[in-house]
Amino acid sequence: MQITFWGVRGSIPTPGPTTVQVGGNTSCVEVRAGKAIVIFDGGTGLRLLGRKLLKETPIVAHMFFSHVHWDHIQGFPFFEPAFVAGNVFHLYGGKNVSRTLEETLAGQMDHPNFPVHLSVMGAKMTFRDLAEGEAVEIDDGEGHKARVTNATGNHPQGVYAFRLDHRGKSVVYATDTEHYEGRIDDKLLKLTHKADVFIYDSQYTPEEYVAKKGWGHSTFEEGVRLAKAAGAGKYVLFHHDPGQSDAAVRDKEKRAAALFPNVVTAQEGLVIDV
Ligand SMILES: [Zn+2]
Ligand SMILES: [Zn+2]
Repeated sequence: MQITFWGVRGSIPTPGPTTVQVGGNTSCVEVRAGKAIVIFDGGTGLRLLGRKLLKETPIVAHMFFSHVHWDHIQGFPFFEPAFVAGNVFHLYGGKNVSRTLEETLAGQMDHPNFPVHLSVMGAKMTFRDLAEGEAVEIDDGEGHKARVTNATGNHPQGVYAFRLDHRGKSVVYATDTEHYEGRIDDKLLKLTHKADVFIYDSQYTPEEYVAKKGWGHSTFEEGVRLAKAAGAGKYVLFHHDPGQSDAAVRDKEKRAAALFPNVVTAQEGLVIDV
């Protein structure tokens, strides 16, 4: 399994000289499991992934949306492979919001917000809104199955965290979730049990968090707590606050590494082989 990070920023894209190392694009993570292409979220990082995937068309890919806040869907109208006939995209969202995933993705491309509507994108798309705990099995093209399960997190309007298992290896993608004070989130603990790679909402330092309680995001200290309790292998700091410079993110990483041996900061272009 190979994981590539295309967008690692939370809330809003942050281009500019102080964020150029970590990167300013919003959430998008690609996982290759055998020949299967799995994508977590469609923030602005999806545009860059799309440019790479154009070279591989025709493709079949599976896209899982944690939720539909803007920073997780904004790259989709600029995802060039979705305009190419012959490509197939299976799109999965949570059954936890008032509109379906299809309605929400189409809605952000409605006139007058965008010139081209989703219905004229050339690729074949299927939409599936997942219930809590519902599993998706994906053929890896090499005689094995990848399996994606979910658990709900703690975020305004709801969020799903996902776990992908493939040939005895696993990655958890748990972004946009706030920890509970004084206790570990049972659902995320179960989802993350012995995961090889744990990608977690590490938006704030504990000091920054004080003023952001209830905003639906977490800290690296809480990420470490969960990673330890779940017996996770590698902990990846993800969904960096738009106010954090490269230096601030590095500082967060250093502080997290003092608490947990295997920590890495998600940054654009990071590749993790599992
Ligand atoms: Zn977000
Ligand atoms: Zn969100």
